[in-house]
Amino acid sequence: MSAELDVRGLRATVEGKEILKGVDLRVQQGQIHALMGPNGSGKSTLAYTLMGHPKYQVTGGDVAFDGQDLLALTADARAKLGFFLCFQYPTAIPGVTTVNFLRAALRAQGKEMPAREFLNKLSAEMAALRIDESFRSRYINDGFSGGEKKRSEILQLAMLRPRLAILDETDSGLDVDALRTVAEGVMRLAGPDMGVLVITHYPRILEHLRPDVVHVLHDGRVVTSGGADLAQRIERDGYEPILGVAAATAGAV
Ligand code: ADP
Ligand code: MG
Repeated sequence: MSAELDVRGLRATVEGKEILKGVDLRVQQGQIHALMGPNGSGKSTLAYTLMGHPKYQVTGGDVAFDGQDLLALTADARAKLGFFLCFQYPTAIPGVTTVNFLRAALRAQGKEMPAREFLNKLSAEMAALRIDESFRSRYINDGFSGGEKKRSEILQLAMLRPRLAILDETDSGLDVDALRTVAEGVMRLAGPDMGVLVITHYPRILEHLRPDVVHVLHDGRVVTSGGADLAQRIERDGYEPILGVAAATAGAV
């Protein structure tokens, strides 16, 4: 069965204010999609709404994932279905170590593995992401630097192997080396079994990530989609020319 994400006419409000105003978006299985757009266009709102965060109220539209009505499911059930969100601002969980967190998360998803296999896999993934061994026993995100938090998120991705990963501004606050490590980590994991939706307002990470499709969100709607060249155009000219044309087109319809 196809683990494709199909968002149609999605509308959502936050604290009574409409932020998503009819989002149409399809992410095919095994592809890397980028969702770009200026600050405040609704990118994080879309990510939280898709994950089922209680603060975000869906007021219209449909979302199908793997042929199921995603909006009818709890956040927990969405995660079990293979949905994963990397937060823009990951929270610390003092008292919970990275090892225990990952074991519990795998168990919750019915993907528990023998201790030795788990630890071997963890070591291999940590080495690939250049994460120090000491992180195993550190409390998750507690006192981590910006770059360490993002690597830790990619480590979760590597261990949990979701079918669709949404990375919200995984690039923000990263230096060039950390950015490359994170991007390479995602590229290594992406494949026929995992789709990726990378959210960013900054095209730099896309030099390393090579998206199949780029979408631009503006004022709660996807106003245009294209190939990797769209990200290059944004890098060169900014959002203004694209949004100007999109707004004019929308006005003409
Ligand atoms: P982006 O991620 O594209 O920068 P956001 O989705 O964070 O945009 O925000 C879109 C709009 O929704 C902004 O105007 C923001 O102020 C508003 N918004 C987002 N989350 C909340 C919230 N929890 N409470 C109130 N307003 C919010
Ligand atoms: Mg955001």
